[in-house]
Amino acid sequence: MLAPDLVDNLRGRKPMLWLNPGSRSRDDPFSPELVDTAEHRLLRAGPLLARVLPELAGSDGLIESPLIDAQALRDALGGQSRWLLKADNRLPVAGSVKARGGFHEVLEFAEQVALRHGWDGDDFAALAEPCWRECFATYQLVVGSTGNLGISIGLLSRALGFRAQVHMSDDAKQWKKRLLREQGVCVIEHAGDYAKAVAAGRAVAEADPQAHFVDDERSLSLFAGYAVAGRRMAAQLKEQGISVSASNPLLVYLPCGVGGAPGGITYGLKQMFGGHVHCFFAEPVESPSVLVQLASGLLNPVSVHDVGLSNRTLADGLAVGQASMLASACMQDRLAGVFTVPDASLSYYLELAWEKLGERVEPSATAAFAGPGWISGSQAGAQWCARHQIDPSRATHVLWCTGGSLVPDSEFQQWLS
Ligand SMILES: *Cc1c(COP(=O)(O)O)cnc(C)c1O
Repeated sequence: MLAPDLVDNLRGRKPMLWLNPGSRSRDDPFSPELVDTAEHRLLRAGPLLARVLPELAGSDGLIESPLIDAQALRDALGGQSRWLLKADNRLPVAGSVKARGGFHEVLEFAEQVALRHGWDGDDFAALAEPCWRECFATYQLVVGSTGNLGISIGLLSRALGFRAQVHMSDDAKQWKKRLLREQGVCVIEHAGDYAKAVAAGRAVAEADPQAHFVDDERSLSLFAGYAVAGRRMAAQLKEQGISVSASNPLLVYLPCGVGGAPGGITYGLKQMFGGHVHCFFAEPVESPSVLVQLASGLLNPVSVHDVGLSNRTLADGLAVGQASMLASACMQDRLAGVFTVPDASLSYYLELAWEKLGERVEPSATAAFAGPGWISGSQAGAQWCARHQIDPSRATHVLWCTGGSLVPDSEFQQWLS
């Protein structure tokens, strides 16, 4: 049950910070060792990725993004202490955070198929050979997506020789459909919303024994792929000489749709830093799906439509009415809170990211930028800091910037104006 004053606030579309009471009512649905397995798989598969993806030729095939200085953004928005941008907008090939989970799930599927057909399980790079591509061509990956997950699954599937089918709602971005079709991905459009596209994709995959459905809401493989980010970022912080401790905590702000990507990343960060890291999700005021799910307990699924919101937002990557139950359950005692962001702020942040940092980002990716302001400049933030004995001016603030480098110029110029 949602408290009436919370519902009033949400319905008023007023940006807010909701603090998570943090008690667990449900079992933890994810096991920590899945992150180790995913980390090893991504490492072992690097030589394969370097062979099949021209962008990665000559590299070790590691899909990772830089952690960059964001003081210029801090100065523009007003704040103290250190701000960093985790530039997943620059992740190779897929251009968004979806590369983390999506690539991992495609690689896990390739591994399973190859093992079934007599692969020794050792040399990933061998899977780039024509005989394996022929084998993979008899299988297909199917996914329902508003865009970025489809791009991540579709592009890597095709690069390995799999067939790929992406189900999208007909209002999904035209350039994303075009990009997928150019790479030989079968794009199927559905009238109505995203949930319909997902259901259609699931039905296709269930009827085809050679198909694998990538389930954005329930996949452990996606979640594990996202969680690997925690370890990689711990290494990056260390390289930059940034220590994380009780007196110098890490505050991380993550744009959230169904909750899988930010949930997995939070899971991974908590594994690394425990009580010294505090993660907050950022959701559009019209689509606070994880906020309403966590705030109402996890007994029943609750959608943003149930509280009278439209789920219509400029942030197409975050326009999700119903949160993932897997992610919500994992976040019960791991997430610090959720704040909401109006579309007008997203547009403003997009411009700032370009002007101050030279980063090309999409509206969804900027939702995190409001985070430090909530912690340092609001009553709810002050309460939270007092309760956890945190001095925000001594914290390292990480804005997770989740996508944008593939956005075509014409689209980007439109956003800027
Ligand atoms: C998908 C996506 C998110 C959020 O991921 P979820 O798993 O849906 O919560 C954030 N930003 C961008 C750009 C995305 O594409």
